Amino acid sequence: MPCPDSIIMKKALLFIILAVSGQLWAAEKQFSSPDGTVVVSVTDTGGQPTYTVSCQGAVLLESSPLGLKTNVGDLTSDLVMTSCNEQAVTDRYMLRNIKQSQVDYQATEAVCHFAQGGKPVLDVIFRVSNRDVAYRYRILQQKETRCCSVLAEASGFRFPEGTTTFLCPQSKPMGGFARTSPSYETPYTLDEPVGRNGWGEGYTFPCLFHVADSGWVLLSETGVDGDYCASRLLCDGGSLYRIGFPQQGECNGSGSVEPQVPMPGLTPWRTITVGADLKNIVETTVPFDLVQPKYQASREYVYGRGTWSWIIGMDPSCNYDEQRRYIDFAADMGYESVLIDAFWDREIGYERIAQLARYAQSKGVGLFLWYNSNGSWNDAPQTPIGRMHRPIPRRQEMQWMRDTGIRGIKVDFFGGDKQNMMRLYEDILADANDYGLLVIFHGCTLPRGWERMYPNYAASEAVLASENLHFGQGACDAEARNACIHPFIRNTVGSMDFGGSALNKYYGADNQHGTVRRTSDVYALATAVLFQSSVQHFALAPNNLEDAPAWAVDFMKQVPTTWDETRFIDGYPGRYVILARRSGSRWFLAGINAEDKPLKTTLSTALFGAGTPLAVYSDDAGLTGSCKAVRQNKKQQLTVTIPQNGGVVVCGR
Ligand code: CA
Repeated sequence: MPCPDSIIMKKALLFIILAVSGQLWAAEKQFSSPDGTVVVSVTDTGGQPTYTVSCQGAVLLESSPLGLKTNVGDLTSDLVMTSCNEQAVTDRYMLRNIKQSQVDYQATEAVCHFAQGGKPVLDVIFRVSNRDVAYRYRILQQKETRCCSVLAEASGFRFPEGTTTFLCPQSKPMGGFARTSPSYETPYTLDEPVGRNGWGEGYTFPCLFHVADSGWVLLSETGVDGDYCASRLLCDGGSLYRIGFPQQGECNGSGSVEPQVPMPGLTPWRTITVGADLKNIVETTVPFDLVQPKYQASREYVYGRGTWSWIIGMDPSCNYDEQRRYIDFAADMGYESVLIDAFWDREIGYERIAQLARYAQSKGVGLFLWYNSNGSWNDAPQTPIGRMHRPIPRRQEMQWMRDTGIRGIKVDFFGGDKQNMMRLYEDILADANDYGLLVIFHGCTLPRGWERMYPNYAASEAVLASENLHFGQGACDAEARNACIHPFIRNTVGSMDFGGSALNKYYGADNQHGTVRRTSDVYALATAVLFQSSVQHFALAPNNLEDAPAWAVDFMKQVPTTWDETRFIDGYPGRYVILARRSGSRWFLAGINAEDKPLKTTLSTALFGAGTPLAVYSDDAGLTGSCKAVRQNKKQQLTVTIPQNGGVVVCGR
């Protein structure tokens, strides 16, 4: 029996009982976002809970399964939706380390209660904001049974016909460098049809889908901590994608892929960001909207810019003199930090690191120190090792760091997404906060709401980052194409430790040998704005003070790493991207182009305010950059041309 639209759209609690075949009773519940544009429908037809999602009248997710299988019961079938309670939810929070410093969150929360054999067994908690749908499960206690293993989730996402995919295939476990994979950093496939399963292992979150003529969908998850595993996306063929647990071989086979949860217990949020265009995808704050801080910051953390010798000079640059030179360079740039990479314990030693820390401090610069996360999950030989995997050595090390005035740590080479490894991430963060240390993760998984959950969390890699530009010319050749993906996918859900914006021509210490940078200097400036991370260790080198254009170095001295507002202007994943970000009262418009033809576009300069003189950084057809002072015209429009591998940056002067 179909229901009139006017009833379905009513925002008040509405529960419709439909008679099906005279025996089964199917319940259907609809609820919508505060502005009514995003609508979710939940049913228990055939005893199987399913949901659909539509945005502005277009179906973006068709009937998709819900539920999970545990070792104390199958909560995917024989379920009856007994009731569904709806309420408005609002939250306002400040967060200095994401794309937007103040967020006003409004959503509809609907808690759908499911029973099996007359007993309540499962709640599905939905949140629907004007640009995101999210859901999580509450597994209810059954008599004296107070814990279970979750064997699998039915949680699925079924796309309409004609949907194409923008996905990062997951690599097999215990492969790659020193058997460190998966490191969640494979090349994306763009605009492919649905139905594939990557390299046979599914896909790494987040996952972007284009529903033909209707809109965009970004799938991810948030609120993942040591109480569950992180997940990936699997496809068994067709247009249904589903939540997959970690691979058995991760962490050298140690630990279960099946998360253990108490009963009652909550699972992480599955997030579905939707929009008719890419604006909601780029501007979403859903990973942070749905989580809460797990502890108070033990101090006011200092974010900002830094230098990093390893990206250009690699391991040989890890010596006292070179690190001192990079400290001087950071001070010359007005930067806040220097990252000292692997082998510092062996090549510099703890005592001389303490000397460097004092020297840096005298110049207003803080030090980040690199650590190997192992443990025993892969063969990565880099040191210091055996300090971060367990609480006793970790806290001893962190005590030394606090005594020495170290600002933060970069911990590398993690072992997958199983619950035991998610606990290690959380344990490192919690201990580091006790000692006032910021934390960057590398060779690691996607952060899932961690900027808000852990106040000393700075950034994670989980992307084909700048190291690949040093390692291979192919990555340099594809640099712009890859960079044009991240603002829409990887970087929109979490801070990205990319380590880019090189002004060297070559990734080599003499700037005359090594892989060749194909992108322009203006491109380097633009990516400093486009890539979001509250701490950025740029791939700049001391020689850039002499061999790079003065306007480029001056811009890199000024560029902020924390933002108050982010706006999508234009773009398409893998082709080009133009965003605007505001820091304080200052706007930065930045764009890059990967297409094999110049991008000519007219930008509104209204956000700078009428009369504000502009600085426009742009490239000529040969990728030679310049900075020009430009007056705004009456229409407040500015026409720019971005050549392939080039960029544009506009900011108020
Ligand atoms: Ca990496």
